[in-house]
Amino acid sequence: MTTISIPRRKTRQVQVGNVWVGSDHPVVVQSMTNTDTADAAATTQQVYELWKAGSELVRITVNSPEAAAQVATIRANLDAMGCDVPLVGDFHFNGDRLLRDYPECAQALAKYRINPGNVGKGSKRDEKYAFMIEQAIKYKKPVRIGVNWGSLDQAVVVKLMDANAKLAQPLSADAVMREALIVSALESADQAISWGLDPNQILLSCKVSHVQDLISVYRSLAARCDYPLHLGLTEAGMGSKGIVASTAALSVLLQEGIGDTIRISLTPEPGGDRRTEIIVAQEILQTMGLRSFTPLVTACPGCGRTSSTVFQELASSIQSFLREQMPIWRLQYPGVADMTVAVMGCVVNGPGESKLADVGISLPGTGEIPVCPVYVDGEKTVTLKGDQISESFQSIVLDYVQT
Ligand code: SF4
Repeated sequence: MTTISIPRRKTRQVQVGNVWVGSDHPVVVQSMTNTDTADAAATTQQVYELWKAGSELVRITVNSPEAAAQVATIRANLDAMGCDVPLVGDFHFNGDRLLRDYPECAQALAKYRINPGNVGKGSKRDEKYAFMIEQAIKYKKPVRIGVNWGSLDQAVVVKLMDANAKLAQPLSADAVMREALIVSALESADQAISWGLDPNQILLSCKVSHVQDLISVYRSLAARCDYPLHLGLTEAGMGSKGIVASTAALSVLLQEGIGDTIRISLTPEPGGDRRTEIIVAQEILQTMGLRSFTPLVTACPGCGRTSSTVFQELASSIQSFLREQMPIWRLQYPGVADMTVAVMGCVVNGPGESKLADVGISLPGTGEIPVCPVYVDGEKTVTLKGDQISESFQSIVLDYVQT
């Protein structure tokens, strides 16, 4: 898999801990925990797992004194585990008090996310927001001003609705709401700068839950500022709906060079794996040719020519094997993420696709005994048979990576 260079929208560069976000740097993958931050052990473990899966920033909610009191401990735990992923603190209604009362929390975080619609109302809002910005300046932390459709600053909405009503041809209510998102983000950034925050310490997001709204809002936002943009479809939903909607929206924007860090907000199935959102984010970037994270497995869909489950099991097991190895392989074998592996169901397309991959295997299809030619760098090297095909193929892939 080769990466391609899509011209990125030129942005400022913002340093978040040891990670840079902006157009001079690769699009950053991030995620968010769903543990109670007050439970330091559980949150440490989930952050660690998300980081191992490839999350380059991890956001944790800081919603209570109990949560804020544990942030420095979580940071220390992660450091002791060799995990240097920057932690982002998600602040809403009481962020000012938590940053004031827990300075060790303010210091341990690498970035503050502030939702200007959830800070407060009227002059109180400005007072609280200004205090949070003061803390960001004091602790030298960047800030994501994260506006959300579901918690839009009502003062901005009312102002724009009033102005719209006076127009000869008023915009639709949805169009005004989209504009309110953008205005809220940009005006909040202007306010932060007026209080002394360096513009190079600001990222923006304007999240909505519908694909076309997101595309429209981010195109407009991108044209009106040079802050790095955090991209994500909020409340994308569960399972395939969440994955498809996020992919549809983000792919359009990324193809236009818009977006500097992405988060896929999936509702986990009960007992589901939080790391799925990392895999989806990585696969969006990798299948678009923007970055490489893990060797991709090319596999045919299967059809009436495949009578057994050997083919599907083999494709699934080799993909899992590759993902599990990547935290170590990434360090030991630079470039391994660009490797391609093919698992094909029968001789119709199997040999051809297998030869195109770095390592490929072609299964025999319906009614035939499992005799599977393996191709390495386009040459047939061995034929696997019997019930150890999966283990033998895994071993061939491992040899390829190590040599
Ligand atoms: Fe079917 Fe063979 Fe094509 Fe796979 S490669 S979809 S098994 S015809």
